[in-house]
Amino acid sequence: MNIILLGPPGAGKGTLANKIKENKNAVQIATGDIFRYNISNETELGLRAKEYMDKGDLVPDELTVDLVWDAFDKIEKNNSQDNIVLFDGFPRTIDQASALDKGMEERGQQIDHVVYFDIDEEILIHRITGRRVCPNCGATFHIENNPPKLEGICDVCGTKLIQRNDDNEETVKNRIDIYKSQTSVLIDYYKDKGILISIDGANSPEEVFEEFCDKLGV
Ligand SMILES: [Zn+2]
Repeated sequence: MNIILLGPPGAGKGTLANKIKENKNAVQIATGDIFRYNISNETELGLRAKEYMDKGDLVPDELTVDLVWDAFDKIEKNNSQDNIVLFDGFPRTIDQASALDKGMEERGQQIDHVVYFDIDEEILIHRITGRRVCPNCGATFHIENNPPKLEGICDVCGTKLIQRNDDNEETVKNRIDIYKSQTSVLIDYYKDKGILISIDGANSPEEVFEEFCDKLGV
């Protein structure tokens, strides 16, 4: 089963993905992780992506799509028993969405559900500005909603947590605006296909997970 988690930054996509992985047979395809992995392992695709990033340019859609398929095909080969694949942070644009459909078709597969996180902007801003991340393993915390056991230290690997530069209020508002302008099209795209499911992103992680399981029947 292939599922897309669609929602603005801070809506809880990563948190839900982690809960699904803990409780179900699932793997996650997160573009952020894929970029990090390919760049640090200096793969051919990673080196190409790095060239754009070093120049401060956006990685083009075609290359992002190649990286996603590379990860997807590895998962299919190594973990054929996994029955849920979660796309997190992808697709972001309509071009990426149609490339995803095309690639699925070529593999005799399809996107089964698109889970859309419906959430108020004020809640998002509070969530993102309180977010702290581990620069080493990518684990995410929140100073109020999900504090680490030891203040400022990653529970997973013990590294000192940081606040990402772009997690301040002004940048967050800007990111939400960009997101909205790109995603409103995606919401319609998947609604038209009849596979869009809305989830209340303002709820607690437990409630979000419950709603996910109820609505998808998993
Ligand atoms: Zn860590």
